[in-house]
Amino acid sequence: MTSFQPLDALRMAPGAKRPRRLRRTAALRDLVRETTLEPSDFVQPLFVVPGDDIRNPISSMPGVEQLSVDRLAGEARELVALGVKAVLLFGIPSAKDSHGSESCAEDGVVQQAIRALKDASPELVVATDVCMCEYTDHGHCGLLDAEGGVLNDETLEVLARIAISHGEAGADVVAPSGMIDGMVGAIRAGLDAEGLHSVAILSYAVKYASAFYGPFREAAEGAPMFGDRRSHQMDPANAREALREVTLDVEEGADALMVKPALGYLDVVRSVRERFPELPLAAYNVSGEYAMVKAAAANGWLDERAAVLEVLTGIRRAGADLVVTYHAKDAATWLQSGR
Ligand SMILES: [Zn+2]
Repeated sequence: MTSFQPLDALRMAPGAKRPRRLRRTAALRDLVRETTLEPSDFVQPLFVVPGDDIRNPISSMPGVEQLSVDRLAGEARELVALGVKAVLLFGIPSAKDSHGSESCAEDGVVQQAIRALKDASPELVVATDVCMCEYTDHGHCGLLDAEGGVLNDETLEVLARIAISHGEAGADVVAPSGMIDGMVGAIRAGLDAEGLHSVAILSYAVKYASAFYGPFREAAEGAPMFGDRRSHQMDPANAREALREVTLDVEEGADALMVKPALGYLDVVRSVRERFPELPLAAYNVSGEYAMVKAAAANGWLDERAAVLEVLTGIRRAGADLVVTYHAKDAATWLQSGR
């Protein structure tokens, strides 16, 4: 037997192209990196509950807590210190009814939260979720007809009233999430009629009926009491329809767009980015995506820090400017301390 001899025929020719040259050192890799990840790319969701001095851990989302309004100032200062410049507020009301009455109350939990955050950190961007599902006793995203179906046009007026109440409390951005047809136009008209021209609309333009919202429903206490949301949220099988949804929201006056969830829908993020390059695009790294990484990391199956930064980079690489993520504080901490 002869020992193996490298074959000259397999060697690369002089002048051959070698992409590895630019991967040789960390400095070279930094120099040619295409996608950046900064704390200012993140939006931290916050769940606000009535009461005082409350921090309720959410068992399916380790590290995430429901907070009472008096706890928000500290949270805001912590986020700003980490370089995270925006929050997305969800409220859990003290009482629910079929009409979601507390959703637009001047002293509702979200309206109080907006004022508390703005008092504590005026520079923090406060965005608010605008939907009825956290406020209705049936847990659906709108008013219901006799058969339990979500009424579309009747719900629009309520959504506009919710957005106005958030704008009056000082919200910078309202984010309608119910996938109700015409919601962006109705909210824009309502805000403008009240002189709230500077309140921006970040539309959940493309929101799929996803299994990955499970842990969120514990956090926001908004699971539907019957049925599901497939009559208004999109079928996970559809991508072309997403462009139709986005086009309508842009026509209705959306200032920025969102795709939700993120990880299973990176192709949709990419195609929305390409169709509307002029509008900021957010992607929502949802509760189930968060819970998967946390559970695997807790078992020692994943390196949490590396996995989280890779996930967030992947969402940015697909085309998202902003990432709404429960990892925001951890990721910002890791980015501040260097990779
Ligand atoms: Zn909803």
